[in-house]
Amino acid sequence: MEHVNDKDPNFYGDDGRFFLVRCFACGGDRGRENWSCAVATGCCAFCGWTPADTPPGSEESAKRKRDDGLRQVFG
Ligand SMILES: [Zn+2]
Repeated sequence: MEHVNDKDPNFYGDDGRFFLVRCFACGGDRGRENWSCAVATGCCAFCGWTPADTPPGSEESAKRKRDDGLRQVFG
């Protein structure tokens, strides 16, 4: 596992792109369902998590980037 979200139902496309269906960085054990339009970006619409984020499951970093993430996703 490369990061906290590297598990079902999240997946990688044929081109290696990461699809974030549920975010486990901000949704706990069950994950939080990502905004549908953000799934294909691989980023969480709620906490701003991206596949480049390490270490996994860092609540601190997730919170710190929450505002930036929302700006990126929603413009
Ligand atoms: Zn999240």
